[in-house]
Amino acid sequence: MAQQQETRSTDETAEDEFIVDTEDCEAREQAYRERGTARPITVVGNAVLHRECADVTEFGPELAALVDDMFASQRAAEGVGLAANQIGVDSKVFVYDCPDDDGLRHVGVVCNPVLDELPPERRNLDDSNEGCLSVPTAYASLARPDVAVVRGQDAEGKPIVVRGSGYFARCLQHETDHLYGRLYIDRLSKRERKDALRQMEEGTPRYETVPND
Ligand SMILES: [Zn+2]
Repeated sequence: MAQQQETRSTDETAEDEFIVDTEDCEAREQAYRERGTARPITVVGNAVLHRECADVTEFGPELAALVDDMFASQRAAEGVGLAANQIGVDSKVFVYDCPDDDGLRHVGVVCNPVLDELPPERRNLDDSNEGCLSVPTAYASLARPDVAVVRGQDAEGKPIVVRGSGYFARCLQHETDHLYGRLYIDRLSKRERKDALRQMEEGTPRYETVPND
């Protein structure tokens, strides 16, 4: 996701089941990105962004190298979240480096993410602005729940549960959507979508993108 200019109920999840992703953020993020190489970002219209990605089944060195490249690419494009198909890889993995409601930084990796269904009483919608590295220079207001819980696996295949609030909740939902072939502009009205695409046409990204044929 660009920076800003349930099968099980979340309430049944014990506090210690949630992964701690707020410690040593700077060192962890730096280690990933220094091992990796930044790659150009795919943009709306590229087929890899518009279909569901393949499940991750191998948690070996190839995945680790992909995650490194994703952190390098995320940093180069100044993003707060990045899905594998945004660098052209058909694989259900996303990375994030994103602040939450309290300004606390979260850094991590999720493979095969599935969002918890929130009970209706927990669905407080937040209509902040959202942007996407794959829709460069465009922003639009989009209502989403202000908390999110994602279940999946880390890069070693260990089951994890990630919880986010505020902007980080938005990020978890946005990145999970990507891996199912959905962009945030697909959730906008026809008119708002058109407006976002016009913003993209008029702007120039500050990072390298993959040209569409
Ligand atoms: Zn995005």
